[in-house]
Amino acid sequence: MLVCKFGGTSMADASSIAQVVNIIKANPKRKVVVVSAPGKLNGQDKITDILIKCHKTAKEGGSCKEVFEKVKSRYLSIINDLKIDIDIAKELEDIRQEIDAGASYDYTVSRGEYLMALIFAKHLGFAFVDAKDIIKFNADGVFEPELTNEITKRALENIAEGGVVVPGFYGSKPDGSICAFSRGGSDITGAILARALNVELYENWTDVNGFMMCDPKIVKNPKTIESVTYKELRELSYMGAGVLHPEAIFPVRIANISINIKNTFEPDHPGTMIVPSKEYRRNGRIVTGIAGKKNFTVINIEKSMMNSELGFARRALSVLEEHKISIEHMPTGIDTFGLVIENSNIEGKLDSVIAGLKAVLNPDHIEVLQDLALIATVGHGMSQRKGTAAKLFTALYNADINVRMIDQGSSELNIIIGVDNKDFEKSIEAIYRAFVE
Ligand code: ASP
Repeated sequence: MLVCKFGGTSMADASSIAQVVNIIKANPKRKVVVVSAPGKLNGQDKITDILIKCHKTAKEGGSCKEVFEKVKSRYLSIINDLKIDIDIAKELEDIRQEIDAGASYDYTVSRGEYLMALIFAKHLGFAFVDAKDIIKFNADGVFEPELTNEITKRALENIAEGGVVVPGFYGSKPDGSICAFSRGGSDITGAILARALNVELYENWTDVNGFMMCDPKIVKNPKTIESVTYKELRELSYMGAGVLHPEAIFPVRIANISINIKNTFEPDHPGTMIVPSKEYRRNGRIVTGIAGKKNFTVINIEKSMMNSELGFARRALSVLEEHKISIEHMPTGIDTFGLVIENSNIEGKLDSVIAGLKAVLNPDHIEVLQDLALIATVGHGMSQRKGTAAKLFTALYNADINVRMIDQGSSELNIIIGVDNKDFEKSIEAIYRAFVE
């Protein structure tokens, strides 16, 4: 059996939904289907975004009636165009009234997936299972993976064979109220079902042919990644968010299930396989992907003999903890210690952090570098291959880029470099060309 999740573009209108039906029918193993709410369509907003507007209008004391018409007409035209034998007029009116009566944000946004799954189950002749009955959060809105796994297993074991459609994106708290994942969360729902049913593959159908080796806004037509391990993808997560919710990896990773990112509009393209490390097959390329992000701050701390000073790093990190700042990387030297932090994490706190570090470390010198971009060049075991680093740094040297920081994770999975923000795009381009062409 397979779990297939279809994203918003796949569910956008009757013609894309007809395409989804073809995909499902093409393989009888496609019995567990997770859907997103209809996405953007020729200038019309995503249903989720329209629902957010409805919630805002109601919260400000108005009625969402007018905005909700857009939600209504999208679903009604899907039902009409596909000639689906379902009457959702009452369902729509109830939801509209609930929103006007002050329904929660999570309830409101979840209705896009709920309605889509209801309609699509009817169209396919599959059972509809409401996510609120199987996906569980605690009272604080924290997802409960083990409880969910037990409940989902029990609920779907017998009916999955005949086919089920489950709305993505949400679940419920112990009091029964709806709780949603963060945006794009239907990917997580699919992964949860894949784990619970221990399926052979989780297919995630979207509108692109998988992950690209780097950002196509920087390098024109980069190659698609054929295969990437969960770990590599975590290292590349700076770039992956648009294609797959980063948290979707965790449930399938526990059960060693691979994810196949596929394109609904080009179903014969193999897409990208996300696999456990043990299933990794080298395709001859050293580098799997290159991803990065701008706007980091580096605090460099220098102190002679810091390597023999007990508790030095702990004290430095405690200052960040007190300021509720998480760190991205920690490059170290024998007498130096760097803290790499996203600018947005340290905004407004830099002076206080520096004062705190001076007080607990008594350093010889502290230097702050700003406007640094980080770039991760990721590939399984690439550091064991001779010449990888040489190639990377030669490419940067030839492109006249000054490398300001180097960090190689001990996982031997990646080499991370820091360059000036202004050199970000140029660096990615140079690294890509060195390894791919
Ligand atoms: N519809 C939700 C969103 O737009 C969830 C999803 O599509 O996964 O974020």
